[in-house]
Amino acid sequence: MTDRLIRAITADGMVKATAVTTRELTERARQIHKTLPVVTAALGRTLAAASMMGNALKSEGASLSIQVRGGGPVGAIVAISDSEGNVRGYAEHPQVDLPLRSDGKLDVGAAVGCDGTLTVIKDLCMKEPYIGSVQLLGGEIAEDIAQYFVESEQIPTACALGVLVDRDQSVRCAGGYLIQLLPGAGEDVISKVEAGVYAAGAVTKLLTANDDPEAMLRTVLSEFELEVLETAPVAYRCTCSRDRVERALLSLGADELRQMLDEQGHAELTCQFCDQVHQFSGEDLRRILELAQKK
Ligand SMILES: [Zn+2]
Repeated sequence: MTDRLIRAITADGMVKATAVTTRELTERARQIHKTLPVVTAALGRTLAAASMMGNALKSEGASLSIQVRGGGPVGAIVAISDSEGNVRGYAEHPQVDLPLRSDGKLDVGAAVGCDGTLTVIKDLCMKEPYIGSVQLLGGEIAEDIAQYFVESEQIPTACALGVLVDRDQSVRCAGGYLIQLLPGAGEDVISKVEAGVYAAGAVTKLLTANDDPEAMLRTVLSEFELEVLETAPVAYRCTCSRDRVERALLSLGADELRQMLDEQGHAELTCQFCDQVHQFSGEDLRRILELAQKK
């Protein structure tokens, strides 16, 4: 099934919730970056969170980035979403391999590390982007996202994310949910949400049973009446293009372009999000150099 995101609110207006399935886009990320399982899980969780948070922006051209820097062997993890929830991302060291935890699970926390920060950048196409940052709690991503919402946006949030990697290292299922309390929600609502989250169990268990974001939300929020507000397909989507890369080359300035032309005779730039190689011949470079000189 294609990856999908759903957005819902409880009939009492106290809780809003988003859920997403991301098996295909996580598998795409794995194939592009050749990630090993623990990195597939770490990057996959971050992509799922970015998709849900990006989809919440609701203004055209806006984007949301999550950067996780935990000091662990995987290095930085970056995920960027557009305002519909389509994502792209990468991990600095995709081929990190670590022993499984004692419970048999991938040790995402150890790969990411917990000595660092999770930063969210919202670019709403205004002058300055909004930037919020929190200290990592455990590097497992979901609890760090929840902490971000509590600290930076003062929204009580439950977040769960999961990626199940198959024996052949492909992604078997992936996704997550975000549940947020709206103003006026009291202790009774909080305890009902907490009980639902606890009873539902792990995201990977829910998705293995039924790879459907709505079914997942209905299970977690079974004590509430849910109204679905929106369902949307989401995918791995890179926004790079030859034009954009050319603009980046132009911005290097005449001196650097001339040096590139003298030393290499051409340019080959690889997009860090999709691994597409953008080739510029000597002739292309001379044309861009001319433009740079006119500036
Ligand atoms: Zn790209």
